[in-house]
Amino acid sequence: MAHQSWLLEHGSIIDGTGKAPFQGSVLVEGNMITAVGAEADQKAAALPGTQRLDATGMTVMPGLIDAHVHSTFDDAAGHDELFYHRRPGMAAITTVRNARKILTAGVTGYFDVDSIFDLGIDIKEAIQHGVVEGPRIAAGSYALMTSVGGAAGRLMPDHGTMAYARLVSGKDEIIAEVRRQIKQGADWIKVHVTGSLGHRRSEGELVTFTMEEMRTITAIAHDLGVPVAGHCRSAKSIVMACEAGFDQIIHGTSMDDAALDALVKYQAHLVPALTFQANLSDFGDAIHASPALQDLFRKEIETSSAMFRKAFDAGVPLLCGSESGFSVTPYGDWHYREMEVFVQHFGLTPLQAIQCATENGALCLRLKDKVGTIQKNRLADLLVVKGDPSKDVTLLGQREQLHAVMANGRFIDLQRQDPVRSNIPEWRCHDFGEILTKDIVAKARAAK
Ligand SMILES: [Zn+2]
Repeated sequence: MAHQSWLLEHGSIIDGTGKAPFQGSVLVEGNMITAVGAEADQKAAALPGTQRLDATGMTVMPGLIDAHVHSTFDDAAGHDELFYHRRPGMAAITTVRNARKILTAGVTGYFDVDSIFDLGIDIKEAIQHGVVEGPRIAAGSYALMTSVGGAAGRLMPDHGTMAYARLVSGKDEIIAEVRRQIKQGADWIKVHVTGSLGHRRSEGELVTFTMEEMRTITAIAHDLGVPVAGHCRSAKSIVMACEAGFDQIIHGTSMDDAALDALVKYQAHLVPALTFQANLSDFGDAIHASPALQDLFRKEIETSSAMFRKAFDAGVPLLCGSESGFSVTPYGDWHYREMEVFVQHFGLTPLQAIQCATENGALCLRLKDKVGTIQKNRLADLLVVKGDPSKDVTLLGQREQLHAVMANGRFIDLQRQDPVRSNIPEWRCHDFGEILTKDIVAKARAAK
């Protein structure tokens, strides 16, 4: 069957490279963008059967790429849910639903950083091979941790697997697990370089791997053509990870000048993933979060923003990651939010923030120069948005503004309604409050 072709005409194009919007057409043939501007109109005229979408008054832009998603967590409210309440079959089924939810919010690609039951790789392949509908995914497997653990303190066991983590002891176990993950199809190796201990919280997150262990990970992974991403909160951990050859630094909220120098020198990219903190600090009252907790997260953003700006100015690629998958960052609602944080707190222009969420996002998908911009010979992952996101990025968080989503050259049915969900028995723990949907925030604001 001949490939379908589409001309998206009369729209204002934000191409994702940071360039100012311009009027013109985009031609899509099959799953590729084959021409932009006047060339698109000319080529389309000579292509019989080309369908047309009139984007007058609207913006045509690349689909968003969310650089930090946990699509198998099902909006978990805490460790309890993830560690003790999840079952593999149901987790797979909810992930299918949630992947579509992410896609219909305008996210055409995401990095599934780590997953429960190693499901990230399966959901990626199911989407890739047309079994279910969803965004383009780069998948991690289990996050590597030492027995010091990550964010769950003493809840994390000393050995084996827990939820999204694989505990590794010593060089031999590290080598075997990295190889196993790559054999299974992991696109990235995710390492919890730092972890926090409840009884030593005042020291911040501790470095939990040795330099030698980190070099072992990158040596094995890179030899097999797979990059490495590190959860690094402390400045020291960023320097160590960069020197060990890590390709992506996640969080980096305690970055100092030495850490920034290392990022520049070793050319790692940076995913601040501040949406979680921003949501709790700005909207936490809607789910009755304690003012002290809201304050803590507000301060984390305030104290780290100047260094993130410095990193941006130094040419470190910043990517937008929403940390979707927790009750504070439910799927579908907050994928635009990191752009808003970049604008509000780092002082980026909306166009610069959009570039972080599109062109730069291609880095986490490992598809640099293949997706994330509107240019000739790019994969056709596109949005048609009512209004002008180059003036206001929050438009990208409003479903009613999203006119069309095209993923891999195909328009997604945005009208299809999924069934209404109710509580799955023994699945959720509500002890950390409700799920912070935009509806809850709107209701709380209206009640004030
Ligand atoms: Zn995360």
